[in-house]
Amino acid sequence: MASEISTVKTIAQISDETRNFILVAIVIAKSDPRFFSGHLKGRGAFETDTAETLHQTARGVFTLTLRDSDRDTINCTVWGKADTIVHYDSTFEIGDVVEVNRPQVASSMFGRSEHYSPTVTSPYCLTINDQTQVEQITRHEGPAQELQQFKALLKVPLVQPNETIPLADIVASGSGCNGETFNLLVVVRAVRAKRDIRVARSNQIKSFREVILMDCSHAGVLMKFWSDSYIRWTEQWLPLKTTLLIVDARVEFNAYYKTICLAVDRKTIITQDPIVPQLTKLLNHAKTIPTQDIDVVCSLSSGSVDPSTINTVMTVQQILDRTEGDLVQEEDQFTACCYAVLTRFDLDGSSRIVSERCVHCRTLVREPNARCPKYECPGHTAANARERFFDITVDISDHTGTLTGCRMVGQVAETVLNCDVTTFVRLTDAQRTQLKWKYLLDRCAVRLIVKRRSAVRFQNLYSIVDCAIADPAEVEAKLKVY
Ligand SMILES: [Zn+2]
Repeated sequence: MASEISTVKTIAQISDETRNFILVAIVIAKSDPRFFSGHLKGRGAFETDTAETLHQTARGVFTLTLRDSDRDTINCTVWGKADTIVHYDSTFEIGDVVEVNRPQVASSMFGRSEHYSPTVTSPYCLTINDQTQVEQITRHEGPAQELQQFKALLKVPLVQPNETIPLADIVASGSGCNGETFNLLVVVRAVRAKRDIRVARSNQIKSFREVILMDCSHAGVLMKFWSDSYIRWTEQWLPLKTTLLIVDARVEFNAYYKTICLAVDRKTIITQDPIVPQLTKLLNHAKTIPTQDIDVVCSLSSGSVDPSTINTVMTVQQILDRTEGDLVQEEDQFTACCYAVLTRFDLDGSSRIVSERCVHCRTLVREPNARCPKYECPGHTAANARERFFDITVDISDHTGTLTGCRMVGQVAETVLNCDVTTFVRLTDAQRTQLKWKYLLDRCAVRLIVKRRSAVRFQNLYSIVDCAIADPAEVEAKLKVY
């Protein structure tokens, strides 16, 4: 009854007997609302209604996960008319401090819904059946200092870092852990643009955003965000700066990328920039990783694999089958020795042969006379902090096909051409043509590292680590028909 006096309780004070109270807490997770209607026969209870029927008959439900101390968390499930739920969903976001007025208390021990809600510390769950005229969830207007105390809870970790598992372990298990949930401590590597797709069944447009996450064990795993709240939230995340502690991230095997991806589950809670000591190590690691394809090619061709160990002979077709076709495996990298002819080696044409990078951090500098694009790098302020390096795109062909866009960069190209980059830029066109014809159309033993297209890489990367004119006898002995 509205006339009864409500008292303010904390999550820890809630018991079976607690009635007529107000809870003040911060929202740390919010489920997507689900709408349903009893009038339409033969439909699943939780199936999303179309927009036309939504406001007439439909009801809805969504869950807020609330926190009011370092320790205490509780779920609050709100049932109501569809428009009430839509209103609540658009009004309250993760990070808002709210007042929950006169919720019902139930033990969550027997509640089925707890299986589908975030794991919380309270043995109780709150329910609001929004039947009254008065709004039962409102924004809390307290003194600034009090609000600050609640906001600080957003960074308090819900699990300890030793309860998280490395991304590499999840990736290694592949499709084996499809559908399971794990705790992760990661740094955001890239935030991709929001995209829209049309859902075939309902013909509605749905938006999603892909975010690439990394940790010290793995360079990148893709996580998909579907709800509007998350899409808005991810917009604020900064690559290589924002860290996330994700409780109960759901693992899904992605058939397109042939690797595991992550998704937000109904149990998932994300803590942005959590206060844990491991962050320093994670962020320092993030600074060292190559971020552009060219960096990856450079690090591949600068000694991570000894070319003399690459002896698995493959034809172009076999390489293609392993990158794109039927033989794709879960590892994202393999090596191959391919006896092939260089069919594009445009040393004397208009193709880019030489690029420039920052001498301090090796970041690619594309604009002429520009400085290093990284603000924190000494090369950003210093003049003449650039160096030239070979950056050659090569096509190789054999009797089975052509591998286009292989990269031959840096030291590898200098060795192959027997010419350093400083000497090369001084060569005349005629001399460059002469250099080209030393290789063009002759059969070479080309040793490659192939990095497959993946969730974090848009294109396959064929990095040449060695290329030498092949002895015809060797070719004849090793060349494969297929
Ligand atoms: Zn730099």
